[in-house]
Amino acid sequence: MKEGKLIVFSAPSGSGKTTIVRHLLDIEKLNLEFSISATSREKRGREEHAKDYYFLSLKEFKNKIKNDEFLEWEEVYRDNFYGTLKTEVERIWATGKHVIFDIDVSGGLRIKRKFPEQTLAIFVKPPSIDELKIRLKKRKTESKDKINMRIAKASAELATAPLFDKVILNDDLNKALKEAEDLVEGFIDSKKK
Ligand code: 5GP
Repeated sequence: MKEGKLIVFSAPSGSGKTTIVRHLLDIEKLNLEFSISATSREKRGREEHAKDYYFLSLKEFKNKIKNDEFLEWEEVYRDNFYGTLKTEVERIWATGKHVIFDIDVSGGLRIKRKFPEQTLAIFVKPPSIDELKIRLKKRKTESKDKINMRIAKASAELATAPLFDKVILNDDLNKALKEAEDLVEGFIDSKKK
């Protein structure tokens, strides 16, 4: 099987990494496909199974952990498991595309450690914790408790930024989009044989 590249985007929830990842997926020449994660959390809004996530029950998720089916997994919030199935990366590589991930900090770093040469790991930094709070409140998808949980986690995650290959500060979205585009294009081109 031909192996492609792995492009990891990690950031605290609400940093804008999903917007960046979606933008990159629209750029044909980058030849990227989104790694659909598995999760045991509830579906939100218009999310669809096998498009946004593979939605699994807690039991199904734990079974897959036991069977060593994950490249990486994490209990991101209590009882909310998230993970990358090995079959997902194989599926994408088999189509000749590169894989792009929108995953949490520990998962991102784990992929970088497993595939150091093939991976470009990018951390998206929000301008500040206050700004992050505002963004999460505006999104109106989580309860107050859940927002507070995400903020607490964000502070710890910010400390891991130096472990990534690159950090993008998302204080101006257009600038961040362009920077992401250039970094990914440069990485893919530099690795072409
Ligand atoms: P959300 O519930 O907002 O969709 O995602 C919550 C967090 O889980 C985000 O930080 C997201 O990046 C992370 N996440 C999503 N998929 C994965 C995955 O496959 N592995 C890991 N480790 N984290 C993930």
